[in-house]
Amino acid sequence: LSPAASSDGAGSERTLAIVKPDGVWSNHAEEIKKIVLASGFSILQEKTVQLDEESAASFYSEHSKKKFFRSLVQYMISGPVLVMVLEKENAIADWRMLIGPTDSNKAKITHPRSIRTMCGTDAEKNCVHGSDSDQSAQREISFFFSSETPGGTVMGHDEL
Ligand code: UDP
Repeated sequence: LSPAASSDGAGSERTLAIVKPDGVWSNHAEEIKKIVLASGFSILQEKTVQLDEESAASFYSEHSKKKFFRSLVQYMISGPVLVMVLEKENAIADWRMLIGPTDSNKAKITHPRSIRTMCGTDAEKNCVHGSDSDQSAQREISFFFSSETPGGTVMGHDEL
C-alpha cells in the first residue's frame, strides 16, 4: 500500500473515514463498519487514536479562522477516534453520500437513512468524517498512516 496514493489507477479510489469521539462513545463503530462493508468498501487500514490538540488543529487547519474551530478541536480530542482507509470505485463521493450532510439535524430531515442521522447530534457532533476530494483524501490518509500519527496516541492498530 502506498499511503499517499488515493487511487490505484484501476478504477478504485481511497478515502479517509473517521468515526469521531461521539460515534466511538455511543458504541456505533462496529455498526458503522458493518455498513461500510455492506456498501462494498474494503477497509484497507484502521486504527484507534486519541488525538492531541495540536494534531486535531492540524487536521482541521483549513477551518482555523472559523468561529467553530476551537470547539471543533475540543470535540475531536474528547475521546478516541476510529480512523479507516476505505477503498472502492468512487469511494470519496459514495462515502460522503452515505454519511450525509454536515449538520446532523439537517441530515435527519433530508437524509433520514444516513450515518449522521443515525448517530450524529448537530452541526458539530456529527459522528463521522469523510474526505471531500481526491486531494483531501491523499492528504488525510498520509496524515494518519504515512508515519507515526502526529501528536496522538495509537490505542489499537489493525493492518488489514
Ligand atoms: N463543524 C462545526 N460547525 C459548523 C460546521 C462544521 O462544528 O458550523 C464541524 C463538523 O464537525 C464538521 C467539521 O467541522 O464535520 C468540518 O467541517 P466541514 O465543513 O469540512 O464539514 P464535513 O466535510 O465534515 O461535512
